[in-house]
Amino acid sequence: MKIKDTPKIKKEITRQCAICGKNILVKVFVNEKYIGGNYFCDIPTVGEYWECDKCYNNWK
Ligand SMILES: [Zn+2]
Repeated sequence: MKIKDTPKIKKEITRQCAICGKNILVKVFVNEKYIGGNYFCDIPTVGEYWECDKCYNNWK
């Protein structure tokens, strides 16, 4: 995702990649968009599921 008209950052959160375990710094914007990681969904037994950009690109 390319940021051209960058909205304000609401918060920065750290999540862990579900594949490689790397910490991901995710920047969340006021419009609820985010960069830095790839969020999929809440999995009931796992919680939030995140992948880093590297692992996410390996899926393609
Ligand atoms: Zn990863």
